[in-house]
Parts: sequence; C-alpha cells; structure tokens
Amino acid sequence: MTDVGIVGAGAGAAAAAFVIDGTVPDADVTVLEKSGGLCGRAATRRHDDLTYDYGANYLKSDDDRVVELITETLDDEGLVDVTEPVYTFDADETVSPGRDADEHKWSYRRGLTQVAKRLFGRTDATVHRRTRVETVRRVGDANGGDRWELDDADGETHGPFDVLLLNPPAPQTTELLRTAEWDDPLRETLVEAVGDVAYGSVWTAVLRYPFALDVPYYALVNTDKEHPVGWISREECKAGHVPDGETLLVVQASGAWSTEHYDDDPAENVAALAAHAADIVGDERLADPAWTDHQGWRYALPDEGVDRGPVDSARDAGLFLLGDWVAGEGRLHAAIANGLDVGERVAYGL
Ligand SMILES: Cc1cc2nc3c(=O)[nH]c(=O)nc-3n(C[C@H](O)[C@H](O)[C@H](O)COP(=O)(O)OP(=O)(O)OC[C@H]3O[C@@H](n4cnc5c(N)ncnc54)[C@H](O)[C@@H]3O)c2cc1C
Repeated sequence: MTDVGIVGAGAGAAAAAFVIDGTVPDADVTVLEKSGGLCGRAATRRHDDLTYDYGANYLKSDDDRVVELITETLDDEGLVDVTEPVYTFDADETVSPGRDADEHKWSYRRGLTQVAKRLFGRTDATVHRRTRVETVRRVGDANGGDRWELDDADGETHGPFDVLLLNPPAPQTTELLRTAEWDDPLRETLVEAVGDVAYGSVWTAVLRYPFALDVPYYALVNTDKEHPVGWISREECKAGHVPDGETLLVVQASGAWSTEHYDDDPAENVAALAAHAADIVGDERLADPAWTDHQGWRYALPDEGVDRGPVDSARDAGLFLLGDWVAGEGRLHAAIANGLDVGERVAYGL
C-alpha cells in the first residue's frame, strides 16, 4: 500500500488525486480540507432557487488536456457554456464590445464545484472536510525511511504518508512549511521561494434583482485597471443558475479597492459595489438589490509563479506542491493542468 496525503481539496488537488488513484493500483489517498466544500476558490453557493459561482467565474478552454478531461473523460451532463460575450469598461465607465477572447466559458448547472466533485467522485480517496492542517512533520519509520505526518486543528494526527501534496495558496503553504517539523535545509529554501509569491485580494458582492436586464453581454471587465470595480457578470447567463426574469450580478472589486476595504462593514461594501454596478451598467435600479451575499478572498490571485527549482527538488523527499501558483497562472484550467502533471509525477515516482 502506498499512502498519499493531500492538504487542500482545490481543483489542482482533485486532478492530482484523480490521476494517482487511476494509475497507482495500491494508492490509498487521504485528503484534508479546511472548509466545508470542495474546489477551493472555484466556489459555488446555493440560496433558495439560486446557484452561483462567487469565486472563479468560469473555466476556460485554454488547455487541451483539461478540455479533454472536462468534455470527454468526465461526465459532461450539466456542463453549461456561456455564449454571451464579455465587454469592457474603463475608468470613465464607458462600456465597449471587445474582450471576447475565450472560446468557451464553462460552468455546470450545479456550479463550478462540480469540477472537483466529479474528479474526486471517480476515486476511492477519503476526503475529510472541516479539517485544517496545522502541522507537517517528517518522521522516521521502522524500515529506516522517512514519511510525512499531519496534525489537524483538533489535535488529530493523520498519516504517515509516503507522499505528501500541498495544494493551499502560496501564503498558506509557506506557513505550513515554515512551521514544519522537518530538519532539512531544503525546508528553508522552500519557505523563501514559496513566500515570494505575492497575492492580490478580491472582495465579491452578489446582488439579486427581481427583473431581467436587457443587455447584450455576459460580463464587463475593467481593462485600464483604474476603476474600483474589476468585473461584473450575470449568473443568469449560466443555464440553471437563476430563475427566468431575474438578475444575479457577481461584482468583483479591483485589487486596490479590495485591499483598502477588506475589513470594512460588509453591508457598506455591498452598497458601494451595487452603486458602482448601477453606474457602469447604466441602470439606477441596480443600486438597490433585493438580496445580497458577499465574500472576501484574501488570497485570490497569485501575481506570479513560484521559482520551480526548489519545488522540483522537494520531490526527492516525497513532497509535491501544486496549484495555480505553481502553474504560474491564477486560472482554474492552469490549476487543473498542474494537478494532472503533479499526479503523473507522483505516479511515475512510485
Ligand atoms: C474572485 C476570484 C475570481 C476568479 N475568477 C477566475 C475565472 O474567472 N477564471 C479562472 O480560470 N480562474 C479564476 N480564478 C482563479 C481560480 O479560482 C484559481 O486559479 C483556482 O481555483 C485555484 O485552484 P487551486 O487548486 O490552485 O487552489 P485552491 O482553489 O485555492 O484550493 C486550495 C484548497 O486548500 C484549502 N486549504 C488551505 N489551507 C489549508 C489547510 N491548512 N488545511 C487544509 N486545507 C487547506 C483551501 O480551503 C482550498 O480548498 C478566480 C479566483 C478568485 C478568488
């Protein structure tokens, strides 16, 4: 039996688990996830008759292997493709047709979390939710080898594992490595390399209205990065997400606005973003939503990728780091592709 431990149940981890479980016959995969859900920042919530993606907006078709995985390998029932275009706006709130570079804009009727749910669903992995890993430890075993153990926030120990995969965003992975009980100079090199990956924050407001909007676009993106709002999209363009005749806007503030207002009163943030949405879309009714939700993403998007040298060296110790920040692109397809790669490397090494 080969014991594989995975910290975090993001899309990257789900793809790696899928590959390992499918190619290593004696692999026993255990996943520890701090939240109550799967798929990390590709997050979906449900409220009454609404379904909405409030982190990643959609999955792009930029990676052939990911396209094959989503459309052929996994069940594609309920996969939805947003066909309306993405328009742009600038600091003056001038809206223009323009940025529709994405061939596909995928989600699922039940939301983007289906990506991780379907991947894990094809494995025998044991997934422990609401289990925050606090300590990583390298321990000797009876045969003179070294393995990995994990302590969670409730004081329970998991493992030992022959192979350990760390999927949290770089700042959280840095913290796990910084406090790791692992007496190896590589630990410090890794802490430095992973700690160098900076992240931008995003503050998201979700706004419901009992009327339909008559506009030709799915979303508006701020291209000059000078506006407090970075992105506005219409969840009703995803089949199955919003009842007919209604509107559900996902408004994502810019990095600068999100950082400045991260800890402000959520009701004030939501009201400010609704007022901006009304101005940008040009419909004053949008300043007064009938229902709202919100989420702050402290570690939303990595500014850059990690230095791969130390990350690759860690494989010799059975330690694999994975996610969008290892791929070097803060995008869902990049995290999935990196998970597939890492899964293959783990399988190859076993
Ligand atoms: C607001 C927003 C909008 C975005 N829009 C898009 C978009 O439109 N298109 C696109 O392609 N991408 C988008 N992205 C980026 C996309 O969501 C990410 O690139 C992708 O989901 C990253 O997946 P991952 O596997 O690398 O990590 P994550 O999704 O971050 O998963 C890591 C997991 O680790 C868990 N974890 C962390 N610490 C611990 C711990 N100590 N113990 C246990 N578990 C832990 C977390 O809870 C999380 O579930 C967006 C992201 C945000 C936040």
